[in-house]
Amino acid sequence: MAQTHFGYQNVDEAEKAGRVRGVFDSVATKYDLMNDVLSLGLHRAWKAYTVAVAAVRPGMQVLDVAGGTGDLARAFAERAGPTGRVVLTDINEAMLRAGRDRLLDDGVLLPTAACDAEHLPFVDASFDLASVAFGLRNMTHKEAALAEMARVLRPGGRLLVLEFSRPAPLLRKPYDWYSFTLMPLLGKLIAKDGDSYRYLAESIRMHPDQAALKAMMKAAGFGHVDIHNLAGGIVALHVGIKC
Ligand code: SAM
Repeated sequence: MAQTHFGYQNVDEAEKAGRVRGVFDSVATKYDLMNDVLSLGLHRAWKAYTVAVAAVRPGMQVLDVAGGTGDLARAFAERAGPTGRVVLTDINEAMLRAGRDRLLDDGVLLPTAACDAEHLPFVDASFDLASVAFGLRNMTHKEAALAEMARVLRPGGRLLVLEFSRPAPLLRKPYDWYSFTLMPLLGKLIAKDGDSYRYLAESIRMHPDQAALKAMMKAAGFGHVDIHNLAGGIVALHVGIKC
């Protein structure tokens, strides 16, 4: 049986999706609060930047993959307007439920699909733009997921990948202390789950860095890929244009 990473652990490939599901089942109801606490609210700025780069216009067809509680999908929907379509997808029903409840409370209703990014239930070339924010590193076969996102985009369509990445050298020591000491402690105190936040720190370290992800996107069918480093490279936005 082929092996893959779950944080720093080696696990059977068949086991990883279930382990990741356990993490997000556990954190779903506290997910938005923890995002604000752990990033000191910065995730909002990173997503706002992504929305600005996406430049969604009225009428556009947009797919948010691993969209969780729907921050990006909601912002895209405001811009796509009634003539456009924004589909919120995620493999985890607890995350989608938390997102759908929050959107409904605000009077926003989006088409939603529970699905694995590695097998998207959409026809070829059916979207102008796809996004995946802080989701790719959790996927077992990242190449397969990127190829699926390329498949459902029309030629010239864009994929935006917002993900933790490799910070500048000066930031690495303090960032390691923050990730492996403070983050699991806050996870334990607030979400009653230190292990999931230890997994978060480990999964970030195992994720391909900026250059490696760019190469993966090119191999998946994105002819041109730009990298936007945010917060000194702690996070990077990769923008790929489908050939
Ligand atoms: N995009 C949201 C955001 O930025 O707030 C949620 C990000 S959350 C850290 C990661 C999400 O990826 C989770 O909701 C998880 O269920 C989802 N995910 C993990 N593996 C997936 C897969 N194979 N296919 C689709 N979604 C997946």
